[in-house]
Amino acid sequence: MPAPLMRALPDLPAEARADVRARSGSGCVRCGVTIYSYFALPTLGDNRVSPLGAHGEGATILCPACHLLVEEGRLSPSQVHGFAASPIARQRHFARDRLPFSNETPELLVGGPRLVRDTPVPIAIAGTPLLMFTPPRSGVGAIRISVRLGDADGVLYRIVDANEWLITDGRWRFVQRGDRYVIAPARGDTLLVLRIVKRNRIAVEHLRTRVLDQKIEATPDWIEVDGKRMVDQVASGTLVGLDI
Ligand SMILES: [Zn+2]
Repeated sequence: MPAPLMRALPDLPAEARADVRARSGSGCVRCGVTIYSYFALPTLGDNRVSPLGAHGEGATILCPACHLLVEEGRLSPSQVHGFAASPIARQRHFARDRLPFSNETPELLVGGPRLVRDTPVPIAIAGTPLLMFTPPRSGVGAIRISVRLGDADGVLYRIVDANEWLITDGRWRFVQRGDRYVIAPARGDTLLVLRIVKRNRIAVEHLRTRVLDQKIEATPDWIEVDGKRMVDQVASGTLVGLDI
């Protein structure tokens, strides 16, 4: 496999990350999606390498789909530099309604008709959150989404941490389709579909996973654990709405 064009920066310091996010409008610099990884800008044709600065100069954020376009050669390094210099989420015409831009804990549609409010963790397993939704740290930007799901063997994986896509080796896939974020492993039938219903309201349209030997499935209408259906069991106004 050839060396990646863009070096991932999992160890970029927190302050530099915050600066990169602020410069990028809290979204992928090409498409505005709020799930992204931090990368060093690619080398340009003259082999000029952008050194990383204390404020994250030389770094940028791209969603998994746009990053793949770069590595597949469908976006050029100079195009990436152009997006980083003029991020779409900072542009006035950018439509944010279908993306989770908000500065509050979102209302959630999950597990029954009663709206879930002020509950950052709607579902946890033995205290470990599967999903977490918190306001942006700086008070502006995108809702911070964190996701853990079980793979085909029922092993729990941390996939997204506060909007940062942690899996860069292709074992898990992310796509945005209109107002939906879809996460699934390359292998197995785990699935997560989040839909941005409107500003500050997110539906867990479908969650299907296995953790150890437990099968968990959730929709806006119900939650099932090993086939046992529950309705309206996710509490509002608490850190963890339902601990399985
Ligand atoms: Zn993107």
